[in-house]
Order: sequence, then structure tokens, then C-alpha cells
Amino acid sequence: MDGFVKVPVREQDAKVRATNFEEVCLGYNKEEAEKEALRCLNCKNPKCVHGCPVSIDIPAFIAQVKEGDVEGAYQTISKSSALPAVCGRVCPQESQCEGQCVRGIKGDAVSIGKLERYVADTAREMGIKPEGAKEKKGKKVAIIGSGPSGLTCAGDLAKMGYDVTIFEALHEAGGVLVYGIPEFRLPKSAVVKKEIENVKSLGVKLETDVVIGKSVTIDELMEKEGFEAVFIGSGAGLPRFMNIPGEQAMGVFSANEFLTRSNLMKAFDPESRTPIMRPKKCVVVGGGNVAMDAARTALRLGAEVHVVYRRGEEELPARKEEVGHAKEEGIIFDLLTNPVEIHADENGWVTGITCIRMELGEPDESGRRSPVEVPGSEFDIECDAVIMSLGTSPNPLISSTTQGLDVNRRKCIVAQEENGQTSKPGVFAGGDAVTGAATVILAMGAGKAAAKGIDEYLSNK
Ligand SMILES: Cc1cc2nc3c(=O)[nH]c(=O)nc-3n(C[C@H](O)[C@H](O)[C@H](O)COP(=O)(O)OP(=O)(O)OC[C@H]3O[C@@H](n4cnc5c(N)ncnc54)[C@H](O)[C@@H]3O)c2cc1C
Ligand code: SF4
Repeated sequence: MDGFVKVPVREQDAKVRATNFEEVCLGYNKEEAEKEALRCLNCKNPKCVHGCPVSIDIPAFIAQVKEGDVEGAYQTISKSSALPAVCGRVCPQESQCEGQCVRGIKGDAVSIGKLERYVADTAREMGIKPEGAKEKKGKKVAIIGSGPSGLTCAGDLAKMGYDVTIFEALHEAGGVLVYGIPEFRLPKSAVVKKEIENVKSLGVKLETDVVIGKSVTIDELMEKEGFEAVFIGSGAGLPRFMNIPGEQAMGVFSANEFLTRSNLMKAFDPESRTPIMRPKKCVVVGGGNVAMDAARTALRLGAEVHVVYRRGEEELPARKEEVGHAKEEGIIFDLLTNPVEIHADENGWVTGITCIRMELGEPDESGRRSPVEVPGSEFDIECDAVIMSLGTSPNPLISSTTQGLDVNRRKCIVAQEENGQTSKPGVFAGGDAVTGAATVILAMGAGKAAAKGIDEYLSNK
């Protein structure tokens, strides 16, 4: 076997998948996983582990895959991660564990993410569950938000023996994993719900349809309901807009709204009672993972889709794999292009968008070359929908209803990186609510750090 090249993973054909919402990547089977596992060198100083924000013992679980011990591999991963089937699918491994793998110096890095997915999926099929706490501590902790940070914090605290309740504003648990990332990248019933059930199997209680700051405040949870500590993992769900003329027209969506309606309210299903507009030609503004998800969702709803992004291909912030998949499926990329105005008909519905060409100038404070307009280069794209995917920030509801909770000028909660401690005693925070929009695994890392912080706080109380 050529040890320099990874075992390729099977995918749905691009033409077929562009018309359905089924999962694009089909993952490894047993034979493929064991063959790929053989490529791992079981390094003494495993660089891959340093690249993993939750420090999974990667060589150990890969060695167990090699031996065919899926249950052992699953328990090894579970010590560090509550959501392996999710992470195996959506983590940016190329810049984390796989980005550090020594195999990558002279060939392909070991496909750690695909192996993690294989272990999690196989364990699920075999009915294997994570191991829970042996003894209870009799102390109540509240978790706000059931995204990756909240689920991780809850799972870790439950394993330590705490009595944990998650309060979730929406009717379904999972945060962005259910309302943001589309079905074709992350199946909801088959994968996300099952991993949430695993967290619940550790004894974690889940209360949906509870908006903290409206239904009940953090101060009330602590003063009246007996919660001795609180973790805030409320994410960053407030979309940004460009503030250009015409942005109020009908047919202009935030990516959040478009994806939430498609994923959570199943608008993609023609039988759904909450359908969404099916655009004929759609412009998606932005170049991140969220823009790729919105574009690929609109394509599957039958639209011709243009991604308009003000920098060039090299600067696209989305994962390369996602950009590649989008191109294969037929998404058109209008790069070095920026919208200036949206046009609507006499009834207020979008008819098109005027854009201007850009070129890259001097690097800005982020180190990236800043885009500069090319004078007189305006042009029109006819379309009936525009999806704005320009980033999100935390919703100020919790910070504005909690006494003594400091936020920074971006409205992110201020919390210590090593333990999640906020300015308010007994209140911890992590994930997108603290960092602004980031990644699943960073949110999980923050949830883990806060679980340790809460344990220390309550043990010394
Ligand atoms: C479309 C999309 C695609 C993405 N793709 C990727 C990807 O491929 N890989 C990757 O690593 N990351 C990706 N991300 C980013 C990643 O999903 C987030 O960084 C991560 O989910 C943050 O986790 P979190 O726990 O901080 O918050 P969230 O996942 O946002 O969860 C927060 C939860 O808190 C709830 N909540 C908010 N306010 C309240 C309140 N007042 N009371 C009760 N509950 C509340 C929300 O309803 C939500 O369920 C993507 C994001 C989006 C939007
Ligand atoms: S760095 Fe790569 S080869 Fe080494 S232990 Fe990690 S996955 Fe295996």
C-alpha cells in the first residue's frame, strides 16, 4: 500500500446530490477505515493531538481502529468529545489535527476526521453509549443553549456527577448543528439527535422553548431555583446586513433565516407546512462556510446560484472542501465583486442587484489585502432572491438582563479563556457568545474548559 496517499472517501455524485438533501460524503466502511488507520505512525510525540482543541488521544483511538476495536476507540474519543459524529463531519481538520499530522509533511495527512466519523457512526449502529458518572454530587448547574459548547459543558459536568439542566430557546436542541448546518452535510435525525441523546443518557435534563432573559433570568435561576452555577453557551445568532439601498425588499434573506427555515422548519420538503420561497436565480453575498451552505441549499431548491465575494479565491474564508463541493455542484463564483444596490419591482420583490468590481490593495490590520472598488465597473445581475451571509454577533438579550455581566464592544460576553469565568461569580460562558462566530470544536473546547472551571468553583464553594 502507498503510505503517502490517503484512502479516498466515497461521495454522492455531484450531479445527483445537487438535486437532493441527502448526505454528500458517505464515509469509510470497515475495510477502508482499517486500511487508513494503518497509515498512522503512532508517533511518540503526536503533533495531531496538539492540533485538536479538545485533545482527543488520536493515536490511541486510531490504534484501536486498526485492531477492529470500535468500542474501545469510541470510549477513547468520548473521554474528550461529546459529539464525535458531528466533529468527524464538520471540523476544519485540515487546519487542526490533520494540519499537524507528520504524515502530511511528505504526502497526505492521516484522515483523522473520517476515522473519527467511522468510529462514531459504527458505535451508534452498535448501540454503544458513553460512560456516565458513578457518584452524584447533589449540586445543580444550569446550561443556557444546547449548541456544541452547551452540550459539551453539560456532558462533562454530568460525567463528574453534577445535576445538569440545559435551557434551550428553540423547540429543538443542537444550536447551529440543527438550525444552521444543512442536512446534506450533517444529518439531523441520524446523527445530531443521536449524539444529543447520548448526552442526555448521562443524566442531563433538557428544557426546550425556554428563552433565558425572557421566560426566566439568570439571577432568578441562581436566587430562586437553586442553580449554584450557570454556563452561558447562547451562541452568536444575530445576523449582520450591508445597509445598502434595497436591502428591505422581499426576497432578501439573512443566511440565518434562509437556513433555519430550510433546516429546522424543513421548508425544503414540499409537504412542509412552513415552505420557503424557491428562487429561480439567487445571489449569495459572502464567502464563508455559512455562505457555502446557503448557496448549496438554494441550489437544491432549484435555483441558479451566484456567490458574490469581495476578495479573491485565495481569500475565501470557507473550507476548501466546501468550496470544491460547491463548484462541483454548479455554484457560480463572482469573485472580487461587491453589491452596491438591490432592485425591486412595483410590488417590492427583488428583481436584481447592482455590483461593482473590486481589486486587492494593501494588506489591512488583519494582514489580508483589502478590496478596493474599481471606479466605473458597476454591472447588474438579474435575480429574484439575495441571501446576505456577512457574519453574526451575539444576541444582547442575556447580557442586558443579567446584572454584573460584562460584554465587550462587539457585545461578546467577557470570559476567561482557561475556565470560562465571567465578571459575575458563579456564571461561566464560552463558544460563539464569547468569541463571536467561530467553529464547533472551539465552542466544544470552551465548554470543556468551563466544565472544569465550574467544578473547581463548586468544589471550593
Ligand atoms: C450555517 C453555518 C455553518 C457552519 N459550518 C461550520 C462547519 O462546517 N464547521 C465548524 O466547525 N463550524 C461551523 N459553523 C460554526 C459553528 O456551528 C458554531 O461556531 C458553533 O455552533 C457555536 O456553538 P455554540 O454552542 O457557541 O452556539 P450555537 O451553536 O449557536 O448554540 C447556541 C444555542 O443557544 C440558544 N440560545 C440563544 N439564546 C438563548 C437564550 N436566551 N435562552 C436559551 N437558549 C438560547 C440558541 O437557540 C442555540 O440553540 C457554522 C455556522 C453556521 C451558522
Ligand atoms: S501525527 Fe499523524 S501519524 Fe502521528 S500519531 Fe497523529 S495521526 Fe498518527
